[in-house]
Order: sequence, then structure tokens, then C-alpha cells
Amino acid sequence: MTETAVKTLKHYVGGKWVELDAAGTLDVTNPANGQVIGRVPLATAKGVDEAVRVAQAAFPAWRATPPINRARFMFKLKDLMERRFDDLAKVITREHGKTLDDARGEVRRAIENVETASGIPSLMMGYGLEDGAAAGIDEEVVRTPLGVFAAVCPFNFPAMVPFWFWPYAVACGDTYVVKPSEQVPMSMAFVAEMVDEIGLPPGVFNVVNGDRVAVEALLDHPLVRGVSFVGSTPVAKAVYARGAANGKRVQAQGGAKNHLVVMPDANVEKTVDNIVGSSFGAAGQRCLANSILVTVGEAHERVIPELKKAVEALKVGDGLEPGVGMGPVISEKAKQRIVGYIEKGQQEGAKLVVDGRKNPAAAGPGCFVGPTIFEDVRPDMTIAKEEIFGPVLSVIHVDTLDEAIKLIEDSPYGNAASIFTQDGGVARRFRYQVPTGNVGINVGVAAPMAYFPFSGAKESFFGTLHGQGRDAIDFFTEKKVVITRWFDNLRVAGHHGF
Ligand code: NAD
Repeated sequence: MTETAVKTLKHYVGGKWVELDAAGTLDVTNPANGQVIGRVPLATAKGVDEAVRVAQAAFPAWRATPPINRARFMFKLKDLMERRFDDLAKVITREHGKTLDDARGEVRRAIENVETASGIPSLMMGYGLEDGAAAGIDEEVVRTPLGVFAAVCPFNFPAMVPFWFWPYAVACGDTYVVKPSEQVPMSMAFVAEMVDEIGLPPGVFNVVNGDRVAVEALLDHPLVRGVSFVGSTPVAKAVYARGAANGKRVQAQGGAKNHLVVMPDANVEKTVDNIVGSSFGAAGQRCLANSILVTVGEAHERVIPELKKAVEALKVGDGLEPGVGMGPVISEKAKQRIVGYIEKGQQEGAKLVVDGRKNPAAAGPGCFVGPTIFEDVRPDMTIAKEEIFGPVLSVIHVDTLDEAIKLIEDSPYGNAASIFTQDGGVARRFRYQVPTGNVGINVGVAAPMAYFPFSGAKESFFGTLHGQGRDAIDFFTEKKVVITRWFDNLRVAGHHGF
């Protein structure tokens, strides 16, 4: 692509593509080949303020739009997303690098959230009780929207993550600002084009591009009622604290270090398939990715040789090419960080059995690190403790299920844990004991469907209500309790007033 063909993105605010006050632009690159594919403007606090005011102005009329009418926009959006399914998937692959199949999975998950949010009249309905307060005094709960909400999103699911939140907020009658990751802003620009096409009233859904400055402006803005954050743990913590100090609702999903436990009785072929998908899908850049494989007893010798074979057969390359099983990591900076962890693993004495630096794709162009496996990893090693967020798998071997569970209990993170076994009793004990938000039983990526909360615990989540489903409805609405008495209609004993 030539320099002149590279476009600078705009922001989508008030139903228009606009320029907001900005502090320069950043290049957006295709990590599979290093080409610049766009430029993203970085909104200042003044720019964010303009957008939030537009969203606030759209709120009263949108709130007064009956829920069934709001739901109709969700049906229209679902229909359009189905028709543009592959176009959106290609935008994701081009800016993120994941394979087209992975990108299609991401679009499917985004659509499922739109489908779930389209049930808003039932989801949002309140409850009440005649004579609930006293004879002749009724008590009811109605859910009401609050105003402007915002999402701050990570790079690894450019389209899906915003959909954990915004369809629910908008269906509830709130108005919304999405702040995509500045590394991957093009997918949400594509989504905004679709939202524009379905005729959602201007200002209900907005996209503002930017970095930390824009995030802090959203967290400090008096008109923003709540923020949903997804990203790394240090930022999640800071966002949670700053939003809460400003009196906002905040849900902040953080980083992860997920364990996958294999018992000696596991189905080897299916387990290996799941480990490869979980550890190396999206080049290990999923918050539910397995990064520590815990083999219990004989599981080690049954699974590891097959795993090595499967990993060595994985084709690494441009995710748009057929047959490619793993794409690049997001940036050169991310590649250097991951390579640094591989070096650290070697220095600390782990045994490197598959070295992603030697993968032919790693020579470039593009930001490639091949799948990497370390054996003989100890829990106190850096590669076992820190989130690498790349295609690096650490194998820890233990003798018992109790030792495996202890590793998970001791981890500061709590996003997901999986077990592979044929024994129901073992699986039950595991699910009961592990302190993670999402649990997989013979499932390598325990990603909740849209109508379940996307959970997370410990350092992987700050807040109470999660994204998706009914939790989202609670997050985006206030429960208003109405107590009603009519003086001329008071019940008297024995008289029911009919
Ligand atoms: P990140 O924390 O670097 O950035 C996330 C967002 O925060 C971006 O929009 C960015 O602009 C903004 N940001 C960055 N630094 C900031 C700061 N100091 N103050 C305010 N805002 C700031 O995360 P990332 O690298 O884009 O995404 C990868 C991380 O996200 C991984 O740690 C991964 O585990 C996590 N993640 C978690 C989940 C989950 O459900 N728990 C899901 C997806 C990704």
C-alpha cells in the first residue's frame, strides 16, 4: 500500500464521521506484513467531552423509545452483520493478525450478543407486589437507564469485546461511547458504518478513538455514568480506582494466566486438539488462552509427544491465507516482549522443547513468533508467573490432582481453568475448588455464551457485575423502587374494592 492510500480514521459521533480535538495520530499496521493500513487520531479530553455531550443529548429521546422499538434495531443490526460477516472478519484479520477462521468466530460471538440483547423487553422487565408495602400500598421495581456509558477495549478482540457491553446498554435505553484499542481501531469503524446504515438515532452509539488520554477523560467526565474496561491487570486496577473515585459504575476485566490440567485418563487426541487451539489460537493472545499445561502422573508421557507433533505441524503465516493455523502477534514491540520471556525461561532453567524463534516465519516480514513449549517449568519461574500474552506454553508436571489445584489456587489471576478427564468425580472436585471465573471441563477455551456472564476473578476482574447477559442489564440500569398509595382507594377489612 502506498503512503497516499493510507487513510486517517475519523470518529463516529452523533451519526456523523467527525474530527474531534486530537493530539496527533498513530499508524495502524497489519502485523502479518508490517504495512501501514491506516492512521488513528488520538482524541484529547476536549474531543472526548464533545462526544460525551452528544451522547448525553441523545439520551432523553432514546430512553423514551419503547424497549420493543429499541430491540428492532438489534434485529436490523444482526441481519446486516450476517450479510457483512466475512467483510468484518477480514478487517479483523488485517489489523489483528488472527486467522480468518478465528476472526469469523469473533464475529459470530459479537452477533450472539446482539441476538441476546434483542430480548430486552423481557430482560429489562421489573417486578412488583400488590399490597407489597402494606394493605393498599403496592411496591414495584422498574429498571431505568442511566445515561452515557463507555467501553475501553483491548487489542485482542477488536470487534467482539465492545459487543459484551454496548448492545445491552443501548437496548436498555442508555447511550454509548466505545473507545477501541488504538492498535486495532478499524473493526469498530466498520461496525459504526453498519450502525449508521440501520438508522440508529444519531448520538446513541458513538466511537471515539484515542489512547490513555481519552480513557482518563472518560473516567473523569461528569456525564459518563459507567465504564466497562477490558485489558491488562495494571490498567484495569487503575481504571477501576479512578472511575470509582469519580462515583461511576466500573467493571474492569484484567489479564490472565490460565491453567489446563490433564489427568492420566484424558482422551489424548481430543485433549491435544484443545491444548493447541487454546494455547496457540490467536497466537496465544486470548484472555482465556491456556498458558500453563499441568500434566498429572502418566498424562505427561501420553500427551506431550503428541502435542509436540501437533505443534510442529502448525503452519504459521498470514491469517488470510488458507491452511494457516497461527498468525502473527500484534506488534514488533509485543514480539520483542515475548522473545524476552523465552530468553528468561531458558536463563531460569526451563527446558525449551519447541523454540518459536526458530520458526521460519519468525525471520519476517511481519511480527511472528512460532509456537513455543517449555518443559520442566517450576511455579516460581517468571514464565510460570507472569502473563506473556503470546504463543508460549509452560508445562508443569505434578503427581496428583491436589497439587494441580493448588497451583491454580496460588495464582494471583482467576480468569479460567480447564481440566481434561473422563472421571466425573474428579471433574466435580476441580470445578468446586478452582477459584476462577470460568471453568472448562474437557473444554480448552471456556468462553461463556452471550446469555451467560463473561466471568473472571481475583486479579483478572475488578467489580461485581460482569459483561454479557443479565449481569449487563443490571450494570446498565438502575433499579427504581416505586411505592404507591391512593388515599381514596384504601382497602378496608372484608372489602376488596371490585
Ligand atoms: P491494555 O491494558 O494495554 O489496553 C487496554 C485499553 O486501555 C486500550 O484501549 C488502551 O488504550 C487503554 N490504556 C492503556 N494504558 C492505559 C492507561 N495507563 N490508562 C488508561 N487507559 C490505558 O491491554 P491490551 O494490550 O490492549 O490487551 C491485552 C490485555 O487484555 C491482556 O492482559 C489480556 O489478558 C487482557 N484481556 C482480558 C480479557 C478478560 O476478559 N479478562 C479479555 C481480553 C483481553
